[in-house]
Amino acid sequence: MAENKIPYKIYLEENEMPKKWYNVRADMKNKPAPLLNPGTHEPMTAQELGGVFCEELVQQELDNENQYIDIPQEIQDFYKMYRPSPLVRAYCLEEKLQTPAKIYYKFEGNNTSGSHKLNSAIAQAYYAKKQGLKGVTTETGAGQWGTALSMACSYFDLDCKVFMVKCSYEQKPFRREVMRVYGASVTPSPSMETEIGKKINAEHPGTTGSLGCAISEAVEVAVKNPGYRYVLGSVLNQVLLHQSVIGLETKAALDKYNIKPDIIIGCAGGGSNLGGLISPFMGEKLRGEADYRIIAVEPASCPSFTRGKYAYDFCDTGMVCPLAKMYTLGSDFIPSANHAGGLRYHGMSPVLSQLYDDGLMEATTAIQTDVFEAAEQFARVEGILPAPESSHAIKVAIDEALKCKETGEEKTIVFGLTGTGYFDMVAYEKFHDGKMDDYIPSDEELAKYAAKLPKMD
Ligand SMILES: *Cc1c(COP(=O)(O)O)cnc(C)c1O
Repeated sequence: MAENKIPYKIYLEENEMPKKWYNVRADMKNKPAPLLNPGTHEPMTAQELGGVFCEELVQQELDNENQYIDIPQEIQDFYKMYRPSPLVRAYCLEEKLQTPAKIYYKFEGNNTSGSHKLNSAIAQAYYAKKQGLKGVTTETGAGQWGTALSMACSYFDLDCKVFMVKCSYEQKPFRREVMRVYGASVTPSPSMETEIGKKINAEHPGTTGSLGCAISEAVEVAVKNPGYRYVLGSVLNQVLLHQSVIGLETKAALDKYNIKPDIIIGCAGGGSNLGGLISPFMGEKLRGEADYRIIAVEPASCPSFTRGKYAYDFCDTGMVCPLAKMYTLGSDFIPSANHAGGLRYHGMSPVLSQLYDDGLMEATTAIQTDVFEAAEQFARVEGILPAPESSHAIKVAIDEALKCKETGEEKTIVFGLTGTGYFDMVAYEKFHDGKMDDYIPSDEELAKYAAKLPKMD
């Protein structure tokens, strides 16, 4: 190993960090389908979107043309506090697996929020502040997004109201407290503070909530309170745009050593980390300059890409948000208790959905206990305690590395290690005690939800 020139960690200098985000939509021949007004089924106008989202973010949401968008200096400065994130050569994992494959991971867990979500949270808070807003509302499932947004809002002195899916609120009291350290107010969802929350509580007494339901509550509060807007941590085009810093840094680091990846792997919940990681590579692929195998990994319990429909659907349970064309399991699909909370969303980014539909990337699923086995194998050799979400990518990276062992191919594999798992110890405990379930929805069950997709004519 000593003779190898590639260091364990490839860092970038501050002046090598991206100054612009890359907008992959500019290079897509088939653009992602527009968001539609849920009432009229017409494309949402900037003005309509402006009632829910900040102005500048609306522009980014609708921008399918500009390849690069300047990262405002204030955001660049904040990024410098925790970026560049390291691109790590997983020498120890390679050794353990005895694989000829070369494995790299881009580690996004090196900030207090513990995940990549801070990259977009700080951008969204910045634009809200710039617009002179009082505050923002949002939902959080596992808690990473809420934590990231609380940090970003406290930095820019904005009020932050978080609706946290009730089961996470109860399972992860420490996440909740971290958000409160940063000054956010945290409400378990469904709550009795919103019309939609009251309705859902009445229809499903004792429900432990879902992301779709928490989104409806957060949107309702944003729309009803002057000076507030709603922000979302994944799925949207703007979020993928902000997350392109992950891919841009990865590419810059690899380019320093003339490394060309063969396979790029990421976990996919709403698609933001994967979309960000792959964007500059996908850009090359779209422009015909290079080719890569790109793999999205989703939980077998919530298989939007692999078993969902590519159709217009609601983004939330309350059906107040615009319709998005995406791979979806149906907006009232509530996945079984899969501990990778961040991967439990019923839909998938419209950008990634279009790229997948065009055959430009692959998708696969992983079973929960296999994911935790991979997580532990990784933790024991590479040291980092991975988030369950991230561990879906680890699982498939290990599988691909083991295939190389069989064939003797020296492929270069890059995967996104999106975060740390310190707040997921209840899930690790279930895994250790053999109490983790591997529920996979049946075709009949999925068909039931798919039948309820909105009719578009
Ligand atoms: C939220 C989250 C994810 C999934 O979200 P994407 O938008 O699909 O990236 C993955 N990993 C971690 C650690 C998360 O917090």
